[in-house]
Amino acid sequence: MDRADARDAGDVLVVGAGIVGVAIAERLRREGARVTLVDARPEVAGATSHANGGQLSFASAGTWSGAELASFFLRGLLRGQERSWRVSPGVVPGALLWACRPRPRADERLRALVRLSAQEFARFLAEDPGLHPLVEGYGVWALRVHGGGGGGAAGLPAPVRLERGEAVFHAGDAYGDCRRFAHALADRFRAGGGRLLLGVSVRALDVEPSGVRLETTGGVLRAGRAVVASGLGARGLLGPLGVRLPLFPVQGYSLTYPCPGPTPRFALLDEERKVVLTRLGDGLRVAGLLDFGCRDERPRPWMLHRLEAVARRWLPDLVAGSTPVDPWACVRAMAPGGVPYLGSVARGRVVCAVGHGHLGWTLAAGSARIVSDLLGERPPLLPLSDYAPPGSPRGARL
Ligand SMILES: Cc1cc2nc3c(=O)[nH]c(=O)nc-3n(C[C@H](O)[C@H](O)[C@H](O)COP(=O)(O)OP(=O)(O)OC[C@H]3O[C@@H](n4cnc5c(N)ncnc54)[C@H](O)[C@@H]3O)c2cc1C
Repeated sequence: MDRADARDAGDVLVVGAGIVGVAIAERLRREGARVTLVDARPEVAGATSHANGGQLSFASAGTWSGAELASFFLRGLLRGQERSWRVSPGVVPGALLWACRPRPRADERLRALVRLSAQEFARFLAEDPGLHPLVEGYGVWALRVHGGGGGGAAGLPAPVRLERGEAVFHAGDAYGDCRRFAHALADRFRAGGGRLLLGVSVRALDVEPSGVRLETTGGVLRAGRAVVASGLGARGLLGPLGVRLPLFPVQGYSLTYPCPGPTPRFALLDEERKVVLTRLGDGLRVAGLLDFGCRDERPRPWMLHRLEAVARRWLPDLVAGSTPVDPWACVRAMAPGGVPYLGSVARGRVVCAVGHGHLGWTLAAGSARIVSDLLGERPPLLPLSDYAPPGSPRGARL
């Protein structure tokens, strides 16, 4: 690990080495900037990018609008013990306020960013064919249960048992292990001269006339500009600069079933329960659920049991007799409407890239392009005002 005692952190210092921060740092490095990437955790992708569902939802991505969440919530009430969400009474007012916060044209804004992300993800692969094997498959089956007779679809992978419902194939989606991809990008970042500081927490961020000053657990760092890609942690860093980000924590859970070699590759999405089932590496990742307001990263057994129930529903033969491993919980930093904040604040010295919620793996490459264009003072590919953090000058350029 590099040491955090040097004071000059280069042209840009990126806070947060999750998939979003790593993609930004590597994109900036490829464009010739001197970049330092800092994370409080001891490894890259140690937080929400660690064991997520692995789906690149370039075709199937949708917003989690207040209305959608409300209907999901109500359906869960009817389902009782089987419901896919949890909310503790103390957070209900905050959750309601957040869910009702308007974000006009959220769907359109999200789709534009998803399209850009698909292009930019392909660009990462085209620039570096060694990344190709990390995309483990293409196409996601969205499964919908209904009360009628068997629907189904020819072409469903053999382990999926679809007795009541239908399946829609999203050919434009892909899947791969987000953590492994982040590690691969970080390796390239370091090999190309980028500086990676792990186990270094940023305590405070100040804007000075000539750049930014960061107080960290490893000493003071100075850089020309800072990018804050630290998920929920961004609120504490940007609050003192007058930026109040309305991010809401929604914890999710995952577990992984070991799979024998010949198990086919496939990816499923149970839209109604907000759970994905993805063949990754030598396992089956089952991930999702919504724990509103929770951020303690504790893999609660009864939430994990709900994931197991979804796995048994769709893949009874595959998971029968198999014990899941690697229980995991982590918090999604949700922005209103599910559209992340990407834009400059604090007199243009700081760029914010947070609020990727349930889609950070999908949106990382496009977010990196927006941030790099912003810092490089190139014309934006998407209207910056559509992603501007609250309180920032609309569409502000550096
Ligand atoms: C159960 C689950 C399943 C999911 N499935 C999918 C999926 O299938 N497809 C998809 O696209 N998305 C999925 N997501 C969402 C996706 O995982 C997140 O949107 C994404 O990981 C967010 O990446 P990030 O880089 O913004 O945040 P993170 O990965 O959380 O990274 C932020 C980093 O900032 C660091 N940090 C915070 N504060 C500081 C500080 N003060 N100083 C230094 N470092 C700091 C943290 O240590 C952390 O490493 C899922 C999420 C969950 C919870």
